[in-house]
Amino acid sequence: MTASVSLPPVAEAARRALPAFVRAREQMMWIGGRQVAAASGRTLPNTDPATEEALAGVPRGEAADVDAAVRAARAAFTDPAWAGMSPDRRGRILNRIADVIEKHADELATIDSVNMGAPHRVTTHMLAEASETFRYYAGWPTKLSGVAVPAGNDHMLYTRKEPLGVVGVIWAWNGPMGQLPGKLAPALAAGNTVVLKPAETASLSTLRLAELLATTDLPAGVVNVVTGLGSEAGQALVGHPGVAKIAFTGSTATGKAVQRLATDTLKRVTLELGGKSPSVVFADADLDAAARGVAAGFLGNAGQACVAGSRVFVEEGIREEFVQKLLKTMEAAFTPGDPLTPGTLVGPVSNKAQFDRVSSYLDIARQEGANVVTGGGRFGDHGYFIAPTLLDNVRPGMRVVREEIFGPVGVLSTFTDLDDAIAQANDTDYGLAASVWTTNLTTAHRMAAAIEAGTVWVNSWGQMSTGNLPFGGYKQSGLGYEGGLEGLDAYTQAKAVRITL
Ligand code: NAD
Repeated sequence: MTASVSLPPVAEAARRALPAFVRAREQMMWIGGRQVAAASGRTLPNTDPATEEALAGVPRGEAADVDAAVRAARAAFTDPAWAGMSPDRRGRILNRIADVIEKHADELATIDSVNMGAPHRVTTHMLAEASETFRYYAGWPTKLSGVAVPAGNDHMLYTRKEPLGVVGVIWAWNGPMGQLPGKLAPALAAGNTVVLKPAETASLSTLRLAELLATTDLPAGVVNVVTGLGSEAGQALVGHPGVAKIAFTGSTATGKAVQRLATDTLKRVTLELGGKSPSVVFADADLDAAARGVAAGFLGNAGQACVAGSRVFVEEGIREEFVQKLLKTMEAAFTPGDPLTPGTLVGPVSNKAQFDRVSSYLDIARQEGANVVTGGGRFGDHGYFIAPTLLDNVRPGMRVVREEIFGPVGVLSTFTDLDDAIAQANDTDYGLAASVWTTNLTTAHRMAAAIEAGTVWVNSWGQMSTGNLPFGGYKQSGLGYEGGLEGLDAYTQAKAVRITL
């Protein structure tokens, strides 16, 4: 897998037809319903990782811009246009947002594919989940109720579920339109206002979405967008006393820093963080299906998935047979290609920093004594492509086994029996997800119960919820949940009312 990548004609045509938005010279942020440049006038570059060509720059927002956005969001929070809106109207607006996302799904998916390199098939899937998530939460404003609590004749006691105020949303570049809905939809459903801070290298889809939101009935200032660096705009948002909660997706290291900073003002924090998830293949599994699922687990989106199944454990007796099937699948379906070419499952990694980071892990793997079964370096001669890589001869203490690489790299080991599989799968600081491959019902349920992870897939990998299932991390993979009622509760606070009669 070392052939050079040249863009096939279909992708070149797709690139000529790119939405004008990605090539506009300079984009604008959204504050208080108006498009604005950064107060400093500075911008940040964006690059197409498949071609290394420059895209539209985005404003480099800093503390002053964040302050303006938080003020706008606070004003909108108490404005009767939003605060006094009936729940059914709020639900209708959420449905309208879903309509707009559906209508512009291809455009938004294309912007993300060009801006951060995920195959169009992947970004299209994310957009489909995005609109479904808004529809799921559109049903909640009319059902978000407190309770009447039993009391004697002299009192009436009840609770109200109230919004928190201004929610700061900060998220990662690996799925801009995949990660936002699980935060934005419940925040709005509960009546909050928001300031969005997308990842600095993949902000374009959010800025386009903000333009589209302006065509709905959302009052000005309910959704604001500040683009910029994590160390500038991100930190300013987390530290701002006018923000009630931070909803964060990113690395575990940054998540810890966010929580520390948020403590100063006792903000609520939900954290969706990193992972090093296991894919466990038992001898009784459908090995062809397992090979496809395991390959997708560590190669899908070029391995840049928080739930990536980057540690592969195979039952001893089927090791050789399974590895042969896995290599065949990798070659047949997961050879990297242009993200805009239909059928591509593995694009480039998302940006230069990520390319350098993954490359350095491949050096570390060799230094630590791992064996490169396939891949192990750059793919092609331009763009940030990494060859799909499988490593074996790994030991539990190796960095490539313990640390999140966030690239198309899997490490393979064997296990002897169920207990050994559980022990090895759980031998990690992370706990975001796992996939288990077996046709034995007892094995499936035992594994599902024993694995320390927020999501366990049996005989599949990567299916995400459309809002109706809680998604969160065990151990150092996160704090709190997105999705479902748990995901809505995270944007509310309960008020107790005691009325003396
Ligand atoms: P990152 O932590 O570097 O950045 C994430 C976001 O935080 C970006 O918007 C960034 O600008 C901002 N940021 C950075 N430093 C900040 C600071 N000090 N204060 C406030 N904001 C700051 O992560 P990344 O490299 O962009 O994304 C990859 C990571 O995200 C991986 O670890 C991946 O597993 C994780 N992730 C988790 C989930 C999940 O749902 N659990 C989903 C996707 C990605």
